[in-house]
Amino acid sequence: MKNCLKKQGKLFVVTGPSGVGKGTILNKFFENNKENVCYSVSMTTRKPRPVEVDGVNYFFVSKEEFEKAVKNDEFLEWAEYSGNYYGTNKNFVYEKLNNGVNVILEIETQGAKKVMEKFPDCISIFFAPPSIEELEHRLRGRHTEDEASIQKRLNAVKLELCCIENYKYNIINDEVEAAYNKLQAVYDYETSDKEERNDD
Ligand code: ADP
Ligand code: 5GP
Repeated sequence: MKNCLKKQGKLFVVTGPSGVGKGTILNKFFENNKENVCYSVSMTTRKPRPVEVDGVNYFFVSKEEFEKAVKNDEFLEWAEYSGNYYGTNKNFVYEKLNNGVNVILEIETQGAKKVMEKFPDCISIFFAPPSIEELEHRLRGRHTEDEASIQKRLNAVKLELCCIENYKYNIINDEVEAAYNKLQAVYDYETSDKEERNDD
């Protein structure tokens, strides 16, 4: 029998080390996917980079504002990473999912773990670098972090890579176009009517 209730959106968790190319691949993804899917804009205490726009890349807030949001239970998950706080707005995600819109979270691995525990059916995707050397090359080549921040981000990589088998999908970002095609294939498969077809 067909389910008459409104279909829930799907929750995608995209994670992986800083500098692996998550943002680059997701930008490409959102250029090509405009219907029924949205990006969850996180709150952070990190200072904006010159090209970043408040409300688009992040909601940039003070430590006090972030701590107030934690107290008010506004986050689905939050984590401290590389000396700053990052958090996902709970109401935004629930509202979208309840309206049948697919939601993409781009978050680091501690947050990803929490979301995967809360939402066992979420679709978790880990982007891995072709090598640690290439990751460092990309992180430095981006020219967005000072040396201390680069070191903190590189120090986190071993721990981040150790849980790679916990994610539903692993994508090695060797070449942008190929990695994007893999993400698109995962998205298309996971949002296809594969389950509904069995209900007919
Ligand atoms: P993240 O969002 O994971 O921190 P970014 O998307 O900011 O990573 O990418 C880090 C840097 O690496 C950027 O300068 C980006 O242009 C570059 N980059 C991303 N993917 C690739 C790739 N497949 N090959 C070479 N450089 C890449
Ligand atoms: P950056 O400072 O490079 O923008 O982000 C650092 C890391 O924090 C990245 O891995 C990014 O995906 C992650 N991040 C961004 N928003 C969130 C969030 O809301 N929660 C968590 N846990 N991590 C986030």
